Amino acid sequence: MPQRVAMGSLQCGMHAVDVSIRGRGAVATGLALALGQLGLRVALSAAAPPKEARAADVRAYALNAASKRLLQRLKVWDALPADAVTPVFDMRIRGDAPTGRLTFSAWTQCVDALAWIVDAAELDEALDAALRFAGHVQRFEQMPEAPLTVYAEGKDSASRAALGVRFDRQDYGQVAIAARLTAVDAHQGVAHQWFRVPDVLALLPFDRPAPQRSFALVWSLPRERAAALMQIDAASFEAELQGSSPELPAGLRLASERAAWPLSIAAAHPVFGAGWVLVGDAAHVVHPLAGQGLNLGLGDVQVLAETLARREPWRALGDERLLARYARARAWPVRTMSWLTDALVHGFSSQQGFVRELRNRGMGLVDRATPAKRWLAARALEG
Ligand SMILES: Cc1cc2nc3c(=O)[nH]c(=O)nc-3n(C[C@H](O)[C@H](O)[C@H](O)COP(=O)(O)OP(=O)(O)OC[C@H]3O[C@@H](n4cnc5c(N)ncnc54)[C@H](O)[C@@H]3O)c2cc1C
Repeated sequence: MPQRVAMGSLQCGMHAVDVSIRGRGAVATGLALALGQLGLRVALSAAAPPKEARAADVRAYALNAASKRLLQRLKVWDALPADAVTPVFDMRIRGDAPTGRLTFSAWTQCVDALAWIVDAAELDEALDAALRFAGHVQRFEQMPEAPLTVYAEGKDSASRAALGVRFDRQDYGQVAIAARLTAVDAHQGVAHQWFRVPDVLALLPFDRPAPQRSFALVWSLPRERAAALMQIDAASFEAELQGSSPELPAGLRLASERAAWPLSIAAAHPVFGAGWVLVGDAAHVVHPLAGQGLNLGLGDVQVLAETLARREPWRALGDERLLARYARARAWPVRTMSWLTDALVHGFSSQQGFVRELRNRGMGLVDRATPAKRWLAARALEG
């Protein structure tokens, strides 16, 4: 079935659509699908990135149970190729001293999996494919006016500044290097993370390109060190990576290009006004060390769709009071996750002996304190 696309300067009356969504990332498309399911007429920005450009995205997202449920409802999850989704059964987190150990397991948590590692490009493809069946969603080159405009433009949103929104952004002075790797032995569904000074290294189990023996790498490093690692050849990079810890899986080889992202934490104030609202990275940016940015964005999608669905029949979609309900519901989960990730970044940036001792003992303590561990795992699973 061809995608419903209305290109060019289509003359739409003031309210030819109910909601106008600006942006073309996973959050924008997910929201368009969710609102379309409610029967709302949705305008979505046109021109998704071409397939080749998407394929160059070497990231794999760790998605939580709440994101999985949402994507299932949107008929996206089951459309993902089997090898583009890998469940995580165990998570092993190491500090920079032998006392710093923290493990999570799906078994003790009584869940199917702690997270699912999903190919970023395949997720975008599946979201776009689902749009073909979303009769209420149309793509526009020139966005029509609507009672409610949602900005899902990502962290560099241009409209945000035009709305007069403050965006408090703090640069971490770090860059995340992402790539795909293969290893000698099977990953067994185990995710590994090393919190050290000055870097954080994550290996997420994945089934592409080699089934059972691949990992998605996210390595957060100081800017200069990352720049050096981006410039060296593949063999030297592999040697640097392998040499960074004796506990890394054996025989790690690069299986993709390396890509780099500058890292920051940011929050928009306010996130809504009369007739508009910000969602996803346009509203909040967190460090990827906990793999929660997109989960938070999909949480926005879920709650905004619920808020609009439950509005009083006489209340307009762009009513500030209605949007305030949405903002209130999202404030706590977003703030908690921002605080947690920021605390981890800062807790692992000090070289001082007593701080090092404290953070590693703290990890060991959480590992033994079952309620605290369950709380942390629940936050990660449900967002
Ligand atoms: C290395 C790395 C690893 C990560 N790993 C994880 C992870 O494991 N789990 C997780 O949950 N999150 C992860 N994240 C975070 C995740 O990538 C982001 O939170 C998520 O992509 C944000 O989605 P978004 O749709 O809000 O914004 P974006 O993905 O930035 O999409 C917005 C899009 O809209 C476009 N746009 C802007 N303005 C307009 C306009 N006016 N009209 C049309 N289009 C416009 C932009 O060009 C962009 O393509 C990671 C991030 C990084 C950098």
